[in-house]
Amino acid sequence: MAFLLNAASTPEPPSTAVTLFFATQTSDVTTGLQSFSWTVGDCVPNSGTLANGPINKGKSKLVFKLSLNGVAYVAKRCYTLGDGSPVSILANRDQLVKEGVTLGRAEFFLNHFNSECAYEAIEIAGFDVTDFLIAREGVASLAESFVPSPASGITSTDYSSLTPAEKDELTTDSNTISSITWLLERERGDVQLRKYSGTLDHPKYSDKQGATINAFQHFVYLYSKKTLVLADIQASESHSRLSQNAVLFDLMSHTANRESGAGDHGDLGIKTFVNQHECVQKCVALNLEALKTPENEEDAQEEEETG
Ligand SMILES: [Zn+2]
Repeated sequence: MAFLLNAASTPEPPSTAVTLFFATQTSDVTTGLQSFSWTVGDCVPNSGTLANGPINKGKSKLVFKLSLNGVAYVAKRCYTLGDGSPVSILANRDQLVKEGVTLGRAEFFLNHFNSECAYEAIEIAGFDVTDFLIAREGVASLAESFVPSPASGITSTDYSSLTPAEKDELTTDSNTISSITWLLERERGDVQLRKYSGTLDHPKYSDKQGATINAFQHFVYLYSKKTLVLADIQASESHSRLSQNAVLFDLMSHTANRESGAGDHGDLGIKTFVNQHECVQKCVALNLEALKTPENEEDAQEEEETG
């Protein structure tokens, strides 16, 4: 209940009442692939209070405080996809759904990694992937009174300029249009963050947490049949009394089909990891197949020399 005490001790910023509809998330048991849907029948409205102004700005997302049934959350949306231009209603939705897919897959891989390490009796640092929800903000379907929250950044013109097909996609049911899509996470408060890897930068670590991440990245690459590399790995300290595990969030990935959203460098991103990764003792203990064959080691050297 710590979050309630925190919420009460800080003055509340100006905020707006919102209605949110959560997507139903399903996970493929063999690949960890995720899908999200807003089935009309399942669309239960949730009432919340969303701050009008952001508390944080990342390289692509704005973060707003949200109170939902008395629980403190943060609501994230994209303001750019890296090229500096603003993000449309649908592009934001697609990007956040892709981030949800990456988080869901990371959790799937982490569960398998943890089981494998337990089976081999390998001591690792504890990590969790953040819990999250993908939610649409609902607005009564009276086009003339289309009023999304100030935090959404959407104006009625943004909506009225959509094509009929796009409008159709955003109609949750006959009475509700979804305006902005949000990625919601429980608020973690002022906790220590640690960054383990960049988009194209995968350092080797000798401490327990860092080496666990090193081995996890190697494991994910192999477990995904060499089709996915996790990148931009960062974790916050535990914020739960129930778990001491650090929490991974805002993950991104490089995928063979380059479909995981902004920052996915496809094959280049995968190869960069393969070339940079240096195995730690945990990789060896897990019996993970070495990434560098003598052949691609030569390739990497040639690239450095000519490069
Ligand atoms: Zn390794």
